[in-house]
Formats: sequence, C-alpha cells, structure tokens
Amino acid sequence: MLATSAPEVRFALHAVRKACALVQQIQREMVSAALTKDDRSPVTVADFAAQALVGALLEQAFPHDLLVGEEDSSSLQTPEHSATLERITAFVQRFQPSASPSSVCRWIDRGSAESGARFWTLDPIDGTKGFLRGDQYAIALALVEDGQVQVGVLGCPNLPGDFLGRSDRGVLFAAARGQGCWAAPLAAPADFTPLRVSQQSDPAKARLLRSYESGHTNVSQIDKFAAALGVQAEPVRMDSQAKYGLLAAGQGEIYLRLLSPKQPDYREKIWDQAAGSILVEEAGGRVTDLDGKPLDFTAGRTLARNRGVLATNGLLHEIAVSALVH
Ligand code: AMP
Ligand code: MG
Repeated sequence: MLATSAPEVRFALHAVRKACALVQQIQREMVSAALTKDDRSPVTVADFAAQALVGALLEQAFPHDLLVGEEDSSSLQTPEHSATLERITAFVQRFQPSASPSSVCRWIDRGSAESGARFWTLDPIDGTKGFLRGDQYAIALALVEDGQVQVGVLGCPNLPGDFLGRSDRGVLFAAARGQGCWAAPLAAPADFTPLRVSQQSDPAKARLLRSYESGHTNVSQIDKFAAALGVQAEPVRMDSQAKYGLLAAGQGEIYLRLLSPKQPDYREKIWDQAAGSILVEEAGGRVTDLDGKPLDFTAGRTLARNRGVLATNGLLHEIAVSALVH
C-alpha cells in the first residue's frame, strides 16, 4: 500500500496536484488559437510558475532539502522580461498569496542545486511542445536518496483516464520504493488504484512508446529495432514522461529513448527520468540505459554515465537489450 501519510509522499502528491492546477489555468488562459507558431510564452510562464510553486511548497515542507529543477531565474531578472515575471507572479499568487517577483525568483532558484545525498528533482513542464499543442505533458517530481529514486509523482493533466475506468482526462501517478505504483484520477486524487505492467512476453505483440519529437530519438533505429523484434503495431508517439505512466499501467510494453543522430552525445536530464523510472520499476517493469546498465542518479544534473533509456515490462527487457546491442 502506498503510505500517503509519509511526509515525503504527502508533500510530493500535494505539490504535483497544485502545480497541475496552476499550469492548467495557464493553459486555459494563455494557449489559444491566436497563438503564433513560435510564441512560447504560455509554456515559459507555466514552466517558471510551476517551479516557483513547488519551490515554495518545498521550502515550507522540507526547508533544508535540495531541489534540482530544470529552470533558473537568471533570464527572468533582465529588464526586457519584467512583464513575463509579473505575469508569472500573478499566477503564483493564486496559490501562494504572498508571492512577489523577488520571492518567485528565489523559489525558482531553489532548483539550482547540483544534487547531493538527498535531493528532489523537478520537471515543471515535461513535454513543452505537447503543452503548447494541447497534447500530453507532465509535471514530474521525485525524491532521490543515495543515488536511488525513492518517491516519484507524475501529474498528467491531459492523459485519458480510460485505464482507470474514467471517461475524463487527468491522471496522477505515484510510486514509492517497495510500496508499488499507483494511479488516481486528477479529479479524484485520493482514489488510488495499483498498477501492474503488461504481462505480454511475445515481442511481436509489443506496443512501443517513443517521443513525439523525432529530434529526441532516432527514428530509423526504432524502425530497425521493431523489425528485429517482429513488432507489428506502429509505435505510439507521445510527449513527456506520460509514456512511463502508460508503461506502468500496462498500456505498452517497451519505451525507447534512443540517441538522436544529431546529438549522439546527449545525456538525459535527471528530472526527465527520475519520477517516470520509479513508476515502471514499482509496477514490476525494468528500466536501464540502452546498454542494459542501471540508471545512475549520482552523476549530477544529467545521467552522465548512461546512454539513452530503455524501459520495458521486464519480460521483454533482455530481448530488447540484445536487439539494441546487435
Ligand atoms: P519527450 O517528451 O520524450 O520528447 O522528452 C522530452 C524531454 O526530452 C525534454 O524535457 C528535454 O529535456 C529532452 N530532450 C531535449 N533534447 C533531447 C535530445 N536530443 N535527446 C533526448 N531528449 C532530449
Ligand atoms: Mg522534460
């Protein structure tokens, strides 16, 4: 059973739910058909506002804990961005009435830690392109202790809740080491259901999950991988760590993060993988890098000692690693 009364789990659930509510308001009020193609202002506002809110809540719950977050406030502190900072502050005030431009910057910069023996890691908006498109995105928060992810919470405001028997969108995923993986509708966040990965062991029937953005993966290598395994179905393209959530829920078997041929030295950011990876592990699946090595969360802000990520239902892991290595 998920110990929702444990202070860390309670904090992570509360912070992610509040951040989801905040960014949904920003999406409703700022993302419209009138948005020009390269206007990223809604996601800029949502990213900073969500990190400020989680930074503020962390300061109240665990004042001494470190936060490794994706954003820092330096660009916001320049005169040409003062209107953006005002806008962010106004949204954060809806949840933290005491917020001012300076406290917002301070809360954001709580996230500039380099990691440590115990730290939280946050992606305030994972899947920024999905957020702008009205597709999938996630708020991802995890607690890492001694290099091991201990708690992961993922809020996916746009994810269909059909696998929870819901007809609406919005799913909250949570896992704690040794306590399993759970999901609840965002609209009924206490209503947790245990999740289990798919028991499919036939690679031909595997459902693959991949990034929506082709630049975040290697599309021709995915095709070769699928052919080597005899996979029949087209890979599901989706933004954000919602892919890990679906894998944990048995809605897919293999999630590949291959290296883009344009950025072969890319190293994954820890906030992009920490929360999602514990969901899959606690649902009975496996997560390694593309060489089959465990993800190493002790190397600072990136997974510097790993290449890409492979997450599976466990049953298909070895065969997937061999298909990648050969
Ligand atoms: P996805 O939603 O699967 O496309 O993953 C989104 C994350 O990919 C973002 O949060 C970025 O941090 C990360 N990202 C950015 N560039 C790359 C890259 N070249 N390869 C892999 N991931 C990347
Ligand atoms: Mg991200």
